[in-house]
Order: sequence, then C-alpha cells, then structure tokens
Amino acid sequence: MNICVVGTGYVGLVTGACLADFGMTVLCVDKDEAKIAALQAGRIPIYEPGLEEIVAKNQRAGRLRFTTDLKSGIQSALAIFIAVGTPPRPDGAPDLTFVRQVAEAIAEHMNGYKVVVTKSTVPTGTGRMIEQILRSNDGDREFSVVSNPEFLREGSAIADFLRPDRIVIGASDARAIEVMKEVYGPLFLAETPFVITDVASAELIKYASNGFLAVKISFINEIARLCELMGADVHDVSRGMGLDRRIGSRFLLAGPGFGGSCFPKDTAAAVDLARQHGYRFRIIESAICVNAETKARMIEKIAAAAGPLAGRTVGVLGLSFKPETDDIRESPALAVISDLVAAGASVRAFDPAAMENARALFPDLYYATDAYDCATGVDVLVLATEWNEFRALDFGRLAKLMRSRTVVDLRNVYEPRELRAGGWSYTGVGRS
Ligand code: NAD
Repeated sequence: MNICVVGTGYVGLVTGACLADFGMTVLCVDKDEAKIAALQAGRIPIYEPGLEEIVAKNQRAGRLRFTTDLKSGIQSALAIFIAVGTPPRPDGAPDLTFVRQVAEAIAEHMNGYKVVVTKSTVPTGTGRMIEQILRSNDGDREFSVVSNPEFLREGSAIADFLRPDRIVIGASDARAIEVMKEVYGPLFLAETPFVITDVASAELIKYASNGFLAVKISFINEIARLCELMGADVHDVSRGMGLDRRIGSRFLLAGPGFGGSCFPKDTAAAVDLARQHGYRFRIIESAICVNAETKARMIEKIAAAAGPLAGRTVGVLGLSFKPETDDIRESPALAVISDLVAAGASVRAFDPAAMENARALFPDLYYATDAYDCATGVDVLVLATEWNEFRALDFGRLAKLMRSRTVVDLRNVYEPRELRAGGWSYTGVGRS
C-alpha cells in the first residue's frame, strides 16, 4: 500500500520508517527543505536510538522516500498520515494551523478515495473539522477521516512503535478500518490489542492518557514534598506503592517535574478542551499547578545545598527533557538553568545529545566535553537528566575536580548513604 506521512519530526519520521519496515511504500513529506535534503542524503535530523538504521534499511529497499512535494505525496497514497506539530497557543489550546493547512492541501489535490489519518495529538472535534475541509471543495468526494493517536516515547520511539501496548483507531466506516488493519498488519497478526472506536473517543484517549500520566507524576512529586517535610524517603514510598498492581511503579518517580513536547502541552489542551465544553478539569489543573511549583522548587534545593548562588559556578548534567533524546522542549533542566542564570550563577553544562539544541537558547553557557569537564571547578554538581552514563560516575575523580563535594540529584539516581559516607553533601528529591 502507498502511504504518505506529512511531517517528518519525532513522530512522523518514526511512523514513516516503521510503516516502511512493515512493508508499506512510504513517502514522507515535510515543508522544511533542509530537513528533507538531510534525509534524502541519509542524515537523520534528530537523535533517536535505532532510527538511523531503520531509515537507511528502508531507503535502500526503496520503500521509504522523502520529499517536500505534498501534492505528489497526496496523489500517490491511499492513506495519508498527518504528523505535523500542534504547538500550544498562549491560552493552552493547541495551534491547529499546520493540521488545517495539510487538510486544505489534501482537499485541493485528492484524486480518489483517501484515508486521512491524524497522528498528531489534536483536540476532540478535529476529525470533524478535517471532514468539513475535505468536503469543502466538492461534496461528493470519497474519503474517510481516522484518528490514530500516537503513544511512542522519545528515546524508545522505535521499540514503542513496533511493539505498542495498543493501537487506537477512531473511524466511522468499515472501509477505513480495513485499510488501517492492513497498514498495521504485522501488529494485528502479533495480537496487539486494537481499540476500534469513533473518532471523538480516539482523540480523547490520547489526552486522557497523557493527563493521567501527568497526574501520576505530580502526585508522586507532592508525596516527595511530604517526605521532605516529614523525614520519609520517597524512593521507598514509591516502591511500596508501585508494587501494588492496581497502581504500578511506572511514572511514579519523583523529580524536577514533567517536561517535554507532550505532557505540558497536552495537559493544557485537556484543560482548555474541557473549558470549551463548560467544564473545569480540576484534577489536571492541579497536576499542572503542582508541576509548576515542583519546577520552581528545584532552584531552592540547589541554593539550600550550595549557599547563595550569585557568583557561584554550577555544573549541570543533562539538558534534554529525558534521556536518549536531543529534545529540549519544556525540559526541566533548562528551567533550572534559567533560574541559575537569573540568580547570578555561572553554568557549565553537559549533555550527550542535546547541547546543540540548548546552545541556541543559552549561547553563553560553557558546554563541556564530558561529565568530568562539566564538574571541573564547580561549587555544586546538579544531575538534571538521568542519562545512563551519569549513573556510574567516578565520585572520587569528581571530588578532585570540584571546589566542593556537593551534589544535587534531581533524578534520585545516586545512593545518598554511599555518597554521604564518602564525605559528600547529597540532596535528592523527597529523600530524607
Ligand atoms: P515536530 O515538531 O518534531 O515535527 C513536526 C514536523 O511537521 C516538522 O518537521 C515540521 O516542519 C512539519 N510540518 C509542519 N507543518 C507542515 C506542513 N504544512 N507540511 C509539511 N510538514 C509540516 O513534532 P513531533 O514531536 O513529531 O509531534 C508531532 C505531533 O505528534 C504533535 O501533535 C505531537 O503532540 C504528537 N506527538 C508527539 C510525540 C513525541 O514524543 N514527540 C508523541 C506522541 C504524539
């Protein structure tokens, strides 16, 4: 089957490459000419483990191609996946300009039956909007609109796409569902659960899922706060809670608050969506509020550990919003850096993949060559993103490089007792 994927960002590129790997013939379209030129030349514009290999393999096999020509993408495909960005507007609602533009282009160029699939995260009602746009040029055209929200996580996107917990398909006609089952044939045969529903429910499943996960993170961050006030250890509390299968241990790790391109945007969108329907989504409002407080609290921890920050030098390990990605959108590490700079501290930073992106926002930081270079001459070392290579640092070596043995572990990666026994001042999140 011929497929067109519009938008070759974190979601679109992974979707295109993985669908090609399923045996589909995929044309990926983006309006960003530099991105497409890089992809045509075999260069991957983002850091995502395993992506380069799967793109190269399917490019070689002739199943995966890249273009800026949206018209040819639309006309050559039976299924068109919309995977463009839906960034937040100042009022919290997602900006659907790019989705609308793609729908208008499909309306203009479609040349036969098309299944138009929304992979971008969009509010309930967007399917109906796309349908109206597609009908606008000629009321008799044949098409189906499908919602197929994506749940992949950056850093493990390929594995998540190839082995998802479920595939959600929101459609209103049997013909579209058959096309979608063919697209996801290998997953269907592997007995991946398929949730087949109406378009509005599928659109809401994505916001409900991300909203719930955000609540879980904010919940444990409030427990961490209580632990600090009461002298308990959130590590043990979280383990004790998470082993209850009704709760589960995932997304129950205290830290500097949630970030990334999805949770902040999708929680704001869920609140806005509810508001538009005359309802206050109080649980998600609270999760957002707790998250803002959690992020803001991190600078206080650093100041409590290191003393007044003006004139101090702080080493920050990790810049991306999570490990194994170069994505810095809404990264808690950058919030910490911004607060450190505002407090008059000098920052030395290191990240295995995200330094180029961070440099565009913070050109004046010192970008180190590795964790030890980052720690050289600093008054305090802050672990902001838990890349694996930061888990097994040589603290003996660090002690010789740093001005003071002070570590602030915003990801609760290190063992407080061990570090304290080694003469370190250790501060975690919610650890007594
Ligand atoms: P991104 O910003 O990395 O990529 C979007 C791409 O769309 C860009 O390359 C942009 O140039 C392109 N684009 C925009 N308008 C276009 C147009 N008219 N024609 C062609 N290309 C166009 O975004 P992303 O992180 O891949 O997210 C895409 C969508 O998927 C969003 O709605 C997001 O919420 C959702 N999502 C993201 C993730 C994630 O982890 N990043 C996970 C699940 C869902």
